[in-house]
Amino acid sequence: MSTRERAPVARFETRQGIRVYRFPVETFPAHFNNLYLIDDDDRLTLIDAGSRLESTRRDITAGLDEIAARWGRRYQLHDLADVVITHAHMDHCGNAGYFVEETRARVWVHELDARVLSAYEERMVVASKDLAIFLDRSGVGPALKQQLMSMYTMSKYALNFSSVDMPDRLTDATTIGNGYQVFHTPGHCPGEICLLVDDVLFTGDHMLSRTTPHQSPECITLFCGLRRYLESLDKIQHVGGVELALGGHEDQMTNVYGRIHEIRRFHLQRLERLRAMCREPRTIWDVTQELFAGRLEGYGQILGIEEAGAHIEYLYQLGELTIVNLDEVQRSNNPALHYRARA
Ligand SMILES: [Zn+2]
Ligand SMILES: [Zn+2]
Repeated sequence: MSTRERAPVARFETRQGIRVYRFPVETFPAHFNNLYLIDDDDRLTLIDAGSRLESTRRDITAGLDEIAARWGRRYQLHDLADVVITHAHMDHCGNAGYFVEETRARVWVHELDARVLSAYEERMVVASKDLAIFLDRSGVGPALKQQLMSMYTMSKYALNFSSVDMPDRLTDATTIGNGYQVFHTPGHCPGEICLLVDDVLFTGDHMLSRTTPHQSPECITLFCGLRRYLESLDKIQHVGGVELALGGHEDQMTNVYGRIHEIRRFHLQRLERLRAMCREPRTIWDVTQELFAGRLEGYGQILGIEEAGAHIEYLYQLGELTIVNLDEVQRSNNPALHYRARA
């Protein structure tokens, strides 16, 4: 994510010579996603659809024009056989409806994320209730809670997304196109997948080259949570022979296994910091403020609380934390939880 201009299209080749084009599209103002076009001489596949914003369509067209000018291949969206959505976050899937309605492509999404697309309005109502409960338990206080909730609701409506039926659902057992293999990697998002095409792994937001992908607790959304995420990192570590990983944002990763190690280490260090903080009783909001030390603004505050919450939840799941205000929890309706490390 940055305010840079759209980067040029990049071209990669797998070991067997399958061509991959990476073209960045602006999915929210100054927020860029990588879409990938895969050409194996038989089928054309697109990884991710971008957002509903007009800038996505503009940049897809610009990307295809650039490919034609630089490599002499004129690809058309109506030649796509498959569109694979890595996960149902709106910068990756918001434009899925366009491909469902306007092209002949099969548009694939993991079965755990299909509902987000096909029952979006219902999902928003339920998700905002779950977030509100989480914020109460995190101890943000009524004024900040109200501010965060209206920010959350406004940001969701600004996406301008309406439900689209997704008939083509992925599971771990699905094969796309000519033997492209799906790996379900929940954690960042319930239906997050990676796709292996020859020796190139498309990682969506499961792994990025610079940023450690955002985590949120399982108590807001099932199949999120740090435990799932770390398990999914292990899963990819055991996929052998990956020479190149291509994420939904940022740069290519040439040392995939090294990157897995770095991301895991980042979380283990963060857990260590939280253990130290919780020597004295702490709410999730206390921990968030200490962890990010005044660097959070706007929507970033929600992301920060979720990130801290995912780590606290994991330590709690492991039995390393205890809740010190149990009496209050029993007596009142959803008070803030105060956690302390077990001696
Ligand atoms: Zn995401
Ligand atoms: Zn993303």
